[in-house]
Amino acid sequence: MNILIFGPNGSGKGTQGAIVQKKYPVTHIESGGIFRENIKGGTELGKKAKEYIDRGDLVPDDITIPMILDRLKKDDCKNGWLLDGFPRNPAQAETLDKALKSAGIKLDYVIEITLDRQIAKDRIMGRRLCVNDNNHPNHIAFPAIKPVEKDGKLVCRVCGGDLNTRADDQDEAAINKRHDIYYDEKTGTMAAVNYFKNSGSGKFVSVDGSKSIDEVTKELMSHL
Ligand code: AMP
Repeated sequence: MNILIFGPNGSGKGTQGAIVQKKYPVTHIESGGIFRENIKGGTELGKKAKEYIDRGDLVPDDITIPMILDRLKKDDCKNGWLLDGFPRNPAQAETLDKALKSAGIKLDYVIEITLDRQIAKDRIMGRRLCVNDNNHPNHIAFPAIKPVEKDGKLVCRVCGGDLNTRADDQDEAAINKRHDIYYDEKTGTMAAVNYFKNSGSGKFVSVDGSKSIDEVTKELMSHL
């Protein structure tokens, strides 16, 4: 099964993606995660991407598009993938759609998680990242995934690991910029969402991201 998942930063897209990945044999590919790994590893790609990411800008298409198309060719994608964070603009959408068609790869689902912009912003600022696994959900504002206290500090509720915040999660200007890009229907990610909504590539599924994690999961799973 091959799936695209869209949602503004803060919509729970990463959390839902991780849940889908547990249920179906898909490799969860997060464009932002690939960039962060490269930054951590000090690679050339990481060095090029860092300045854009820190500002909340998109990394240029000539870096991002080949990076994702190459990633989809790896062996662990043969049985299916869940692509998260890409495409984010119409050029990426069109290039991906064409590349999949020319490789004879079927897109099964296109998932959109909708969320009001202000709620998305509040959610981002409260999220915490586990140093052991980015897919361990921790958020100071949500009782269901609140970090736990250990020796006077908050640690990951799943594994007890230390928690970090993403630098770009605490920077309001960067969050606003990321949301400007996401909600832009002409040149941004909503344009990519609409591209797939109208393209007929994959079944389009839209779920309301304002509900609890479990409710969103239930609604989403009922469509897959
Ligand atoms: P994310 O973890 O999805 O919020 O991504 C973090 C950052 O990585 C974004 O703010 C962008 O700077 C960069 N990024 C991730 N995906 C893309 C993409 N498809 N195109 C361009 N930049 C991206």
